[in-house]
Amino acid sequence: MSALQIHQFPARTDNYGVLIHDEASNLTASIDAPDDSAVLSALQEKNWTLTHILTTHHHADHTAGNLRLKEITNCTIIGPGGEADKIPGIDSKVAQGSTIEFGSFRIEVLDTPGHTAGHISYVIPKASVAFVGDTLFAMGCGRLFEGTPKLMWSSLCKLRELPEETKIYCGHEYTLANARFAITIEPQNEQLKQRLECVEAMRNQGQPTLPTTLREELATNPFLRAGEQTVKDRLGMQNEADWKVFAEIRSRKDNA
Ligand code: ZN
Ligand code: FE
Repeated sequence: MSALQIHQFPARTDNYGVLIHDEASNLTASIDAPDDSAVLSALQEKNWTLTHILTTHHHADHTAGNLRLKEITNCTIIGPGGEADKIPGIDSKVAQGSTIEFGSFRIEVLDTPGHTAGHISYVIPKASVAFVGDTLFAMGCGRLFEGTPKLMWSSLCKLRELPEETKIYCGHEYTLANARFAITIEPQNEQLKQRLECVEAMRNQGQPTLPTTLREELATNPFLRAGEQTVKDRLGMQNEADWKVFAEIRSRKDNA
């Protein structure tokens, strides 16, 4: 059995496009479609033919390429049922518990609302990868445009239950700004300090900092760490519920 091939490339200002390809079945999916030209160039570079678009949420920087890509490749567009009316060209609506057969790989859908009300994530257990759109970022999480802190916290808790070795692909290169914020929440976190330095070096050389892994995020992402006693103590929220600590961290980031 061959491995799932994954190709990540920059698109727009700070988005990432991702193509996944199964050699045996000759299927290729684009995770979101930030920009049709960027996706088409990536396909050409790999010499792959697009068969699917897997949409995480309705924002334009994730769906702008849908219609042109569909017109050119006749691909099938799969996306969140909860916001299907806002996904251009959607053919198939999925939600929590849906599975998509992708050659020999099974893609599982998780509802991860909060950034948008219908946001979903795609997990491929056999390949140990998750595509989380704008729900989780390296050392960050998405802004709460259409959800409450409590809802987003429950989505992050769902992602936190994936195996630690899971590679996490995110919608944006926000890592450096996130790291600089994270250190204000946990100035004593040694692994975070090291990661900040590492990320600064990578960005200075124009390298992508993604994908990340769940293991790294559990150790350094303040939004995933809202339930840690050290974080609660530091914020003077010793006796507060985890989601309230998350809400406080999110509002500090919004106002940073
Ligand atoms: Zn978004
Ligand atoms: Fe986005």
